[in-house]
Amino acid sequence: MKKRNFHIPVFVPHKGCPHDCVFCNQRKITGQTDDMTVQKAREIIDSHLESIEKYNKKGEYKAEIAFFGGSFTAIEREQMTQLLSLAHEYVKSGRVDGVRCSTRPDCIDDEILLICKSYGMTAIELGLQSADDYVLQCSARGHAFKDTKRAAELIKSHKIELGLQMMTGLPGDTDEKSVNTAKQIVSLGANTVRIYPTLVMEGTHLWKMYKCGEYVPQTLEQAVFLVAKIVPFFNDAGIDILRIGLQTTDNVNEKTVIGPYHNAFAELVYGRVIRNKIESYVVENNMQNCTFQFEAPKEKISQIIGHKKENLIYFKEKYNIDIKLI
Ligand code: SF4
Repeated sequence: MKKRNFHIPVFVPHKGCPHDCVFCNQRKITGQTDDMTVQKAREIIDSHLESIEKYNKKGEYKAEIAFFGGSFTAIEREQMTQLLSLAHEYVKSGRVDGVRCSTRPDCIDDEILLICKSYGMTAIELGLQSADDYVLQCSARGHAFKDTKRAAELIKSHKIELGLQMMTGLPGDTDEKSVNTAKQIVSLGANTVRIYPTLVMEGTHLWKMYKCGEYVPQTLEQAVFLVAKIVPFFNDAGIDILRIGLQTTDNVNEKTVIGPYHNAFAELVYGRVIRNKIESYVVENNMQNCTFQFEAPKEKISQIIGHKKENLIYFKEKYNIDIKLI
């Protein structure tokens, strides 16, 4: 049986980040404005471990401390090593199995990787966002795709798990470019991936672009359609999809962001992936005006039915087919 994975998120804002990515409002995403101290990190880790250990048996889960929220390897070196040293204590005590972080591709080099490894870092997630240099330029990322390639190869050469995060619907982006980004992620040999449709948050440059009509966000339907097209590339390559869509928080919800936000975005996508598969079968076999009965594993039933039964309704309306599950 596959072990349950727990990421204990410790958000470390990158104060004084010299970059100005158009979509970034780090404080809104992480909900955090203050700096992270060792004491605060310890409290967060202890409280998560307490509930993980209370409800799960040792050996049946994998717990990792995850330094997220900014470009962890670009923060002040002393703060980085203090936090890593704290995380390493938990690894050495056996209470956690590893440490991971998220960072920018141009904040990775041999020296950083050697430091990270010496403190028990097991996985690094790079914000690739897009494999298209024009999209990266329009989003003011300040790095090119070649930086991601270089960083990904270095991470793998240090035998650290590679995670890549991509965004859809960025300025200058198209569906074809996003599909190509997914293909590049596969060929870079990523172990894990996160997919985030671009959302417009107040206080960002993207917000200004949106207000003056320079940027039009994807609709929810466009984002679901595209991400459902991308997901099978990762499934076929055996890449673990850790997250689809931003998590709902007090700061990220339907009232605070503009664009393809939905609190069950991933569910909509997985439902669409299955709908696409069933539809290919229906079209290939020229099916309509009938009942389509098939066996389905228990854990797939809600995805087949779709969010608010939307897949059942879709097949009924488009093909007059009643889906029946055994
Ligand atoms: S997304 Fe990361 S690199 Fe870009 S501005 Fe925000 S913190 Fe800086």
